Parts: sequence; structure tokens; C-alpha cells
Amino acid sequence: MRSHLLNDTTAEHYRRSVTEGVERVAAKLATTQRPFTGVTVDALAPVIERIDLDRPLHDTTAALDELEDVYLRDAVYFHHPRYLAHLNCPVVIPAVLGEAVLSAVNSSLDTWDQSAGGTLIERKLIDWTAARIGLGAAADGVFTSGGTQSNLQALLLAREEAKTRDLATLRVLTSEVSHFSVQKSAKLLGLGPDAVVSIPVDHDKRMQTVALARELARCAEDGRVPMAVVATAGSTDFGSIDPLPEIAELCAQYGVWMHVDAAYGCGLLASLKHRDRIDGIEHADSVTVDYHKSFFQPVSSSAVLVRDAATLRHATYHAEYLNPRRMVTERIPNQVDKSLQTTRRFDALKLWMTLRVMGADGIGRLFDEVCDLARDGWRLLAADPRFDVVVEPSLSTLVFRYVPAAVTDPTSIDRANLYARKALFASGDAVVAGTKVAGRHYLKFTLLNPETTTADITAVLDLIAGHAEQYLGESLDRVAS
Ligand SMILES: *Cc1c(COP(=O)(O)O)cnc(C)c1O
Repeated sequence: MRSHLLNDTTAEHYRRSVTEGVERVAAKLATTQRPFTGVTVDALAPVIERIDLDRPLHDTTAALDELEDVYLRDAVYFHHPRYLAHLNCPVVIPAVLGEAVLSAVNSSLDTWDQSAGGTLIERKLIDWTAARIGLGAAADGVFTSGGTQSNLQALLLAREEAKTRDLATLRVLTSEVSHFSVQKSAKLLGLGPDAVVSIPVDHDKRMQTVALARELARCAEDGRVPMAVVATAGSTDFGSIDPLPEIAELCAQYGVWMHVDAAYGCGLLASLKHRDRIDGIEHADSVTVDYHKSFFQPVSSSAVLVRDAATLRHATYHAEYLNPRRMVTERIPNQVDKSLQTTRRFDALKLWMTLRVMGADGIGRLFDEVCDLARDGWRLLAADPRFDVVVEPSLSTLVFRYVPAAVTDPTSIDRANLYARKALFASGDAVVAGTKVAGRHYLKFTLLNPETTTADITAVLDLIAGHAEQYLGESLDRVAS
């Protein structure tokens, strides 16, 4: 069994095993015709159920053959140009290479003595990102597992910096289309059930700053303490970007921590054409970036950045077994001093390899392409009488619904759209997402694949219309009979 441990004597086994796995995935990439096979839970569950985990195969090839049945054949493939659903991106090869290296070396980024150069590489990427944002010389941050954790940590710092320790009076102001991790964070941070105040959005799904100003004034009057305004730079549903400069001004006026959730919009930091859309982000006290969304990185790769490195002390604890206090005076860099996690992946290596091979412009060009594609898709939808489209895209998301001229009952239209999404998923021809707008069911394309073309968009819209028409035809038949 020692032959399975990665070490000096097993280097050849390692090379062969990993190469065999890479070959399988490469073959899959080359032959995948659809983003999904349409497999159902009922069909797949028994296949996985039948496997006896206490009876190993003792053979890599056999395990990979089995993996084909339990996973690879029916996986949802984000690299396929007709995967248009969630905020998942096709990944860039330098990052996948980084992933292979980091898991084999298996550095842990909590302390210098478990990572050495890994720690310095991560720090340099944090500095690079902070500079792109424009956070200033005192900025710092740390890689995290995702936007959810980044938002949680940012709000922890904001809570600790707040003007009161009375948790019941603390408020977090955020738009009604912000990410649900803001609510989850508030709960984890021990805030009251009314802590998250939802600020209405305008027609373009951007926070209404007039409403924000009103709420800040009200808080001041009735003794509630706003501990943070969370601005969204790229809402999950619409890609809408809150008016960051105006929000920054209000935060400065009221002395409130400004957090910018740029989990999605961070790709603009590398953009060659649309960087100005995220102007104002440089005023933030903290920023969430998800490289695994708009930097084409494999999950997970995310970071939280702060304007003032000193605020990260709120996440600092010392343990004799890991990062004793004296190491601070010895100037030994231990990233665990800034992190909510302890053992932590060297995810930064993926971004490092990406920047060293492709450069930031390479990433920015890819993101610009999908933003431009979304603009073209919006024009197609706006000109198509079969569809109602919401919000001209600021990033790469399109929210729309099928609205047949002959049907006026909104509930039937809801059902037809829900049906179309399900039928499309079951066919595997394309994968799209859904959401609600003003209580009605809509469909959503999140365009993060530069390989997707307007022809793909047109084809998928036709498929959607076909499924929806079929549903409406059948339900009319049911009424008639
Ligand atoms: C995706 C997303 C998050 C959460 O990020 P994860 O990496 O999925 O944890 C937070 N905020 C916004 C705006 C997002 O789109």
C-alpha cells in the first residue's frame, strides 16, 4: 500500500496515474457533444449506491473506468458553449496546471513553515489585486474558499470596527438583489433577525442611493448603528453594479464601513474595455473577489481585500502549536494570522500560473468577450417578440422570459418558462438558470464562456420557445378535453 504514497520511490506511479486521469478528461473534452446528458437522480443514484466502498479495486485503470460511470459520463460540463446557467466558468489551462502542482506538493498556507514560497506568492497576488482595485499602500487581504467566506470575513471585520458592541442595534445595509451570504453572515455574526436592511433597487437593479441615504439618516435618528453598507459589483442574477462612487460618499459621510462584493464583477479589474464600470471600488474598506467566477480559475479561488491591513487583526489568534505571538516580532509571515481557515489550499498558485503564462490582459480579453456577447444577446432578445428581457447587461448576464402573444395569463407563462428550463435540462442540449423578477418566473443566461456565440444564443432561445410552446399547446389540449 505504500506504493500509493507520493514520494521519491513512487514518482513514476504518480506520473502514470495522473497522466491516465488527464487522458480521460482530455478525451471527454474532445468528445462531449452536450453540456449534460440529462441523467436523472433516479437513474444515477443506484449506480453510486451499488459501489461498495469497503471493497477497493486496487487498480487505477479500473477505478477510472468506474469513475466514467459514476461521474464523468454524466457530469455537467462548463466548458461546453451551451452551458449558460450559473456563475461557473470554463477554466484556463495554466490554472489547471497550477492546480495539479499545488495538490501534489500540498503546501498549506496557514504558516510559513508549511509553505515558504507559497506564502510569498499569495502575498504578492493579494498586493497585485489590491493595486488593481486601488486600495492604497496599507491594503492587505487573504485568499479564501469563496465569495461566501470573503463576505463573512469582511463583515466580521466591519462588526469589530463598529461603534457599538450592542449586536442588537447593528445594521447591514445592502440592496434587495445582493447575495444571500450577506444574510448568512449576519446570522453567524450574532446580529439580530432584522440586522440586514434591504435597500430597493432601480430599474437597472442597482441600489437606489436616495433610499440608502434615507435609511442611513433614519438609523442615525432612531439609534440603530449601520456597521456596513454592502455594495454589489455584479449582482448574481443581473450582473448589475451598484453606484459605487455615490455609495462611497454616503459611507464617508456617515462613517460606515463600505464593503464591495465584487465576487462576479472582479473580472472588470483585468478588463481592457470596461474597467470604468467598476470605478469607485477603490473607496471600499473591504472587497470580495472570486477569481473562480470571472478570472476563469478552477474552484476554489477567492480573496478578501481590505484597505487597512490592521483591521485583519480581528481574525488573529495565536497558538503555541502553530503561530506563537513571538513570530510576529521575528517577522515570520503566517497567513493564518489573517484567515478564518487554518489548513488552507495554495489556491493562489492557479492565479499565479495564469498571470505568468497569459497575463492579466489575456484574462481581461476573455471577460470582455463575454460582456460583449451579453450585449449582443440583449439586442437579440430585445428585438425578439417572443421574449421579454430585463436589464441591459453591465456584465455577462441576461434575464428574460418567454411571452407568447396568444397567452396573457401570467401563471401560465410562469409555468411554460419553468417547464422549458426543466425540459432543456432533461434533454441536455443546453443548461440555463432561472430566477424570479417581481414575483414572476424568468430564465437566465450567465455567459462566461468566450466560446459561446450569438448563434448558440439564438439556437438555445429557439429550443426554449419550442419547449414552452409544446407545454402551452399541451395544457390548452388539457383544458379543451
Ligand atoms: C457567487 C457570489 C457570492 C458567493 O461566492 P461563492 O464563491 O459561491 O461562495 C457572493 N456574492 C456574489 C455577488 C456572488 O455572485
